[in-house]
Amino acid sequence: MKLPIYLDNHSTTQVDPRVVDAMLPCFGELYGNAASKQHEYGWRAEAAVEKARGEIARLIECDAKEIVFTSGATESINLAIKGVAEAYASKGRHIITVATEHKAVLDTCKRLEKYGFSITYLPVDTNGLVSVDLIRSSIAPSTILVTVMIANNEIGTIAPIEEIGNVCRERGVLFHTDATQAVGKIPVGVERMKIDLMSFSAHKMYGPKGVGALYVRQKVKVAPQLDGGGHEHGYRSGTLNVPAIVGFGKAAEIAAREMKGDADRLARLRDTFVEALKRELDEIQINGHPTERLPQNANITFVGTKADRLMMDMKDIAVSSGSACSSASPEPSHVLRALGLSDDEVLASIRFGLGRFTTEEEIGYTIGRVVEVVKRARERSYSLTHS
Ligand SMILES: *Cc1c(COP(=O)(O)O)cnc(C)c1O
Repeated sequence: MKLPIYLDNHSTTQVDPRVVDAMLPCFGELYGNAASKQHEYGWRAEAAVEKARGEIARLIECDAKEIVFTSGATESINLAIKGVAEAYASKGRHIITVATEHKAVLDTCKRLEKYGFSITYLPVDTNGLVSVDLIRSSIAPSTILVTVMIANNEIGTIAPIEEIGNVCRERGVLFHTDATQAVGKIPVGVERMKIDLMSFSAHKMYGPKGVGALYVRQKVKVAPQLDGGGHEHGYRSGTLNVPAIVGFGKAAEIAAREMKGDADRLARLRDTFVEALKRELDEIQINGHPTERLPQNANITFVGTKADRLMMDMKDIAVSSGSACSSASPEPSHVLRALGLSDDEVLASIRFGLGRFTTEEEIGYTIGRVVEVVKRARERSYSLTHS
């Protein structure tokens, strides 16, 4: 067993060794520019990119033509939201989103407010679910876009995406979803779910960093945010990152085959983990929805402790705390706050993110260490307050 144990798979995932193998030739003989239409080097690079595009399209059940490669989910989200805002501004300037979205969505929306768009930030219930009725009643004649994530990156709650998609379709409003935590982990189909635009990223699904995709349904207009050579049907100019795209394709191909098995195994491991902690420790709260949640996520508040201190006491376990879950800037998690947790509770919370390479042995070890450091922290604070 290798220490520290990696349980931060919502931040990023280890690149699958099979993905590394698929990428390696691209750094050697496959160095052509996929946009070079006049020679063999270009054709071969283009063929590799199109194979990957097909694999990704198959995973999310769309047409390969509807995939736009980007540098990651952050860029995809910016392109989707700003691109729709620009293309449909004459129709209306209202966008609906949810308080628990990733900062890539929230900060993009905030930027648009500076340009005269109005944004509705809907609340969630204590499990992190947004109400579909509230979305329906928030849609106004000026609404052009609804953007709601499939699975939350901190608490793992899975939104009723198909119902939200139906509401948007009925009302003639575009629907974008940040599917970064969902694609490759749970089944996602853009037709079934009535999704018009969808952002996701390779490095959250055992692929390389620096590559992502935006799904754009045919006939949906998106104003490009990067101008130049007109790559990716004009949606996103810039020479394609062939090695990363090939890795992304391989990751998608593996996910399509293995995601069900991974999900079942990780849900069992996660449940074992949570049940053991509940047995051994008092006063712990499990954050997020009890059933509508990612199989590999456990977000836990250890009441009366400080998560950052717990993590210092168990440097052999790599996790994230409620003060640093989704961004480079540490502040109490806006997601946990939106569930109604107090600042003390937020700062006593740790996110455990299991992944494809997590073993039973690692979970057994982690249970022991967490129980030990939480008990020690509580004894310490008890003796401080009673001495
Ligand atoms: C990681 C993440 C992002 C950002 O993805 P990048 O590819 O790192 O830009 C956006 N949304 C969610 C839900 C994420 O988990």
